[in-house]
Amino acid sequence: MSKVLITGGASGIGYAMAEAFAAIGDDVWITDVDPAALKDCPDHWNKSAVDVSDEDQMAMLFETVAQKWGAPDTVCANAGIAGPTAKVEDVTLADWNSCVAITLGGVFLTAKFAAPLMKHAGRGTIIVTSSTAGQYGYPNRAPYAAAKWGVIGLMKTLAMELGPSGIRVNAICPGSVEGPRMDGVLEREARAKGMTREDVYRGYASGTSMGSFVTASDIANMTVFLASDGARLVSGQVIAVDGHTENPDPKV
Ligand code: NAD
Repeated sequence: MSKVLITGGASGIGYAMAEAFAAIGDDVWITDVDPAALKDCPDHWNKSAVDVSDEDQMAMLFETVAQKWGAPDTVCANAGIAGPTAKVEDVTLADWNSCVAITLGGVFLTAKFAAPLMKHAGRGTIIVTSSTAGQYGYPNRAPYAAAKWGVIGLMKTLAMELGPSGIRVNAICPGSVEGPRMDGVLEREARAKGMTREDVYRGYASGTSMGSFVTASDIANMTVFLASDGARLVSGQVIAVDGHTENPDPKV
């Protein structure tokens, strides 16, 4: 049984990751900034209400994890927020800072506190959630795209830095995932472009070879593989789970 810590685990992709690891018998610890959402998650999962962008809260979380587990085998640095959908000139510095602090800074803090525990154990794997917005330009989503590109740069650096200690680090880039978060993005974009939600949805889907959104469990399945011994020599990789996107710019 592996010990798996997941940030942003109370909803969407993080929740699907927790379900997938629990389904193979792993011990799951989810963290999330939303205590009410955590309450609705299964009682047999470990849970902590923590803001990934708060250094003190993250330090305390990993102290508790160290006491209970020693070291986690797998850490999924998954929490992130969409940030504003707006032309760059309309993005406020406050919106920029909060998106980058959570979406990139949260991955940094997760790795910062996980690394010493994993180094001590001489093994571990860190899986970060980036996005196809971290592989291509993404008009009207400057803070989010910048943060997700940053997540990949951080992952590549950590893979080199931590590899000699037996720690693998990889990034998953989900495409557009069916669910409440993408619903919000579609609605905001439809409003901004004066289009219907359905037209925006079709535009996103048509940007993939397979003409489809993906599901949270598609992402979770890849995460479980990356955490497994089957991937024992896979590190420093960017893996898109997105129905194949070469040109993600929605055709709308
Ligand atoms: P979601 O909103 O359903 O889940 C994100 C979870 O993170 C929520 O439970 C939320 O409460 C939590 N969270 C937000 N801010 C936090 C903070 N400061 N500290 C701790 N937890 C916080 O979204 P999701 O779709 O499951 O997204 C998960 C990850 O996948 C994110 O990093 C997101 O950018 C990325 N992603 C999502 C999509 C998509 O289409 N949904 C596509 C590409 C990448």
